[in-house]
Amino acid sequence: MVSLLVIFELYRPSSLDDALVFLEKNAPDVKPMAGGTELLVLLRDRAIKPPKYILDLSPLGKELSYVKVENGYVRIGALTTIWELSRSLLHSDVRYAGFVDVFRKFGTMALRFEATIGGNIMTATQYSDYATLLLVYDAGVKLASTRGTRTLPLEEFLVDKRATASRPDELLVEIFFPEPPRSASSAFVKFDRREVLIAGIVTSAVYLVLEGDVIRDVRVSFDMVREKRIPSRARVTESYLRGKRLVEEAVHEVVEKVLPSEMVRTTDWWATAEYRLEMSKVALKRALYKSYERIVRGVV
Ligand SMILES: Cc1cc2nc3c(=O)[nH]c(=O)nc-3n(C[C@H](O)[C@H](O)[C@H](O)COP(=O)(O)OP(=O)(O)OC[C@H]3O[C@@H](n4cnc5c(N)ncnc54)[C@H](O)[C@@H]3O)c2cc1C
Repeated sequence: MVSLLVIFELYRPSSLDDALVFLEKNAPDVKPMAGGTELLVLLRDRAIKPPKYILDLSPLGKELSYVKVENGYVRIGALTTIWELSRSLLHSDVRYAGFVDVFRKFGTMALRFEATIGGNIMTATQYSDYATLLLVYDAGVKLASTRGTRTLPLEEFLVDKRATASRPDELLVEIFFPEPPRSASSAFVKFDRREVLIAGIVTSAVYLVLEGDVIRDVRVSFDMVREKRIPSRARVTESYLRGKRLVEEAVHEVVEKVLPSEMVRTTDWWATAEYRLEMSKVALKRALYKSYERIVRGVV
């Protein structure tokens, strides 16, 4: 008979320090759980080996749920839920407009109350929408353990599908990125067969800084750019665009010639590589124009 029960012990820490000591003592036999929207599905489906302990991070919500601007950096606590993000400055300032786009297509309403931004990054798959967006903000992550804290660029932190540079006794505690200048905005585009509750056949994010119609800075990311199934930056595309006027000819050139030169797409059950490449072109074009419009009009 096959047992459907997954057996583990649940530890509820009284503080961040308590959680870190528990991790130090029990890693790697322990898995942290934030909202549980990814972890519990993986355990239920037996996609991962059940750990001896689950470290329930929800008691740390007060300590690690925040969005603030401090010394020129936007700082987001790892346990901030998707719903809490939508109540923060990230949804009222045009410089962060891509956060509104991600929210609108993120799972279901119920899921947004539980899922956290930290859990999204730690999931580390091509479907981690906030990771795709945060890459274009040049975000970094802060990790804590009983040894202290360390920071890493998000791009370095995402190593491969379901693999990050975090150590078994570390917790992700914060995500941070430099506060964008006034003439900046962003956009996030996600395509699938439906509009909601979708994993995304293609996703893309753009961060744009304009001086008149000249692109002073631009960053572009996709759910994947090369072989690894993790969100990645399209750096060749970015450097082509930097310094150019944002006009139709430049967009046509970058979409038709430059992007395909660095993008490697794969075929699977959901879509062919050719279809994905075509949709990547459309996504980039839309995200560029959307960011442009947002800067010019000053509204999301
Ligand atoms: C129906 C459904 C729809 C979904 N739709 C979307 C979507 O539209 N877009 C999208 O991007 N994702 C989506 N997801 C995936 C998932 O909900 C998100 O990735 C979510 O943000 C995960 O956050 P969580 O807090 O629930 O993470 P959890 O499930 O608690 O944890 C996920 C992983 O991160 C680790 N972890 C969590 N927090 C920490 C921490 N602070 N430090 C160290 N490790 C940590 C856990 O050990 C686990 O390995 C969907 C999932 C479902 C089931």
